[in-house]
Amino acid sequence: MLDIKKYVKVQSLEEAYELCQNRKNIIIGGMLWLKMQNRSVDTAIDLCDLNLNHIEDKGDEIHIGAMVTLRQLESNPILHQYTHGAMKESVHNIVGVQFRNLATVGGSLFGRYGFSDVLTMFMALDAYVELYHGGIVSIQEFATMRPTPDVLVRVIIKKSPLRVVYMSQRNTKTDFPVLTCAVSQIETTYTCTIGARPLKAVTFKDENHFLDSSLSDESIQAFANDIAKKLVLGSNLRGSADYRRRIAKVLIKRALTALREENHHAY
Ligand SMILES: Cc1cc2nc3c(=O)[nH]c(=O)nc-3n(C[C@H](O)[C@H](O)[C@H](O)COP(=O)(O)OP(=O)(O)OC[C@H]3O[C@@H](n4cnc5c(N)ncnc54)[C@H](O)[C@@H]3O)c2cc1C
Repeated sequence: MLDIKKYVKVQSLEEAYELCQNRKNIIIGGMLWLKMQNRSVDTAIDLCDLNLNHIEDKGDEIHIGAMVTLRQLESNPILHQYTHGAMKESVHNIVGVQFRNLATVGGSLFGRYGFSDVLTMFMALDAYVELYHGGIVSIQEFATMRPTPDVLVRVIIKKSPLRVVYMSQRNTKTDFPVLTCAVSQIETTYTCTIGARPLKAVTFKDENHFLDSSLSDESIQAFANDIAKKLVLGSNLRGSADYRRRIAKVLIKRALTALREENHHAY
């Protein structure tokens, strides 16, 4: 059980940062992950008064506050339009609506969970994370950083010509994913992000230039085989590494084929 001695609604990011330097204190998001832990907390730090529950179109950037819920990600028109529905696809299988009404972006990213749909999606968007003390870092760097006590303030998406497709494989609809896959084309660069390996998500560029000339069936297959060969995968109760490798090939191929279809409809 989670035992909390004191609860503070902080009035500034500075106050939150100072408080979270004490390892016995903890920042709370929706508390859905935290409440499953067996630990004693001196002070629970709530960011709910800091106006971080908005998704804002800033022209060249989209800003997503740390207290934005997964349900907001799912239903927000700015994100829906920018990602052509991929953001919704990335979160809509996470447990249920009531759950997604509580789970926050900050709580979903700060833990850098090895099963995370949310981390996979933001990595595919080449997003940035703003930390109160650590400043603005790319999400790729953030995913590999050693966690130090800091406040995740917001996620920043730098807008660019984008196509992105998100897919996941689950044994049952609302379970943790067996594998997550997002392919994106930002300007002319293709990337493929694979998560729930069951390790943290990782992004691959098309280093061997399979997709340079066209998204043909052959080039898509070659790219999928190449990534599946490079992937470091593990086994857990949801699937073996070998099963995940087979699934990876299928998801990458399906996602790139869907991306090709999107491109056809766009032009
Ligand atoms: C049963 C269950 C099933 C799930 N299934 C999936 C799934 O299929 N796919 C998926 O992607 N996710 C899944 N999740 C994870 C879930 O979506 C959330 O990511 C998770 O609950 C954390 O979000 P939260 O807002 O509840 O964070 P909390 O539990 O409140 O916090 C989690 C951690 O983040 C820290 N934290 C929170 N906010 C901040 C901040 N602003 N700055 C710094 N640190 C912060 C907390 O201190 C804590 O260490 C699942 C979780 C549960 C419990």
